[in-house]
Amino acid sequence: MLVKRSITTSRRNEFIDITSLVREAIYESALVDGVAIVFCPHTTAAITINENADPGVTADILQKLSSLVPLRDGYSHAEGNSDAHVKSSLVGASETVIIEQGTLVLGVWQSIYFCEFDGPRSRNVYIQTLAA
Ligand code: ZN
Repeated sequence: MLVKRSITTSRRNEFIDITSLVREAIYESALVDGVAIVFCPHTTAAITINENADPGVTADILQKLSSLVPLRDGYSHAEGNSDAHVKSSLVGASETVIIEQGTLVLGVWQSIYFCEFDGPRSRNVYIQTLAA
C-alpha cells in the first residue's frame, strides 16, 4: 500500500522526525510482517535514520553538512540552491525499515528524519509497505 503524506518545513535546513507519521501509515496498511520504504520525492531534501535522544546529534549533522557543502561555492546550477541538491544526494532519497508484527523495527535511539535543505516549503513523503 502506498501512502502519501504532506509536511511543512519551517527553516532552510532542518531535520523533522517523521517516525510517528510512518508508524501511522504502517498501521493504516494493516501490514503484519514486511518492509516500508520511506521515500522523499524532492531533489533538495532527503530521508535518514539517526539518533532521537540528543538534539545535538541532528544539529551536528546539519552543521557538518553545511561546512562540507557551503551555500555559495562557484556552482553551475543557476537556481542558487546547489548546496541543497548536493546535500540531498549525500544523504539519500529513501530509507527501508522492517515491519515485524505490525510495528516498526527501530533501535531505541533511532528515529526517521525528513531532511530539509531548501526550505521552508511544503513537502511530500511516500511510504510504500510491502509484505514479507
Ligand atoms: Zn535547484
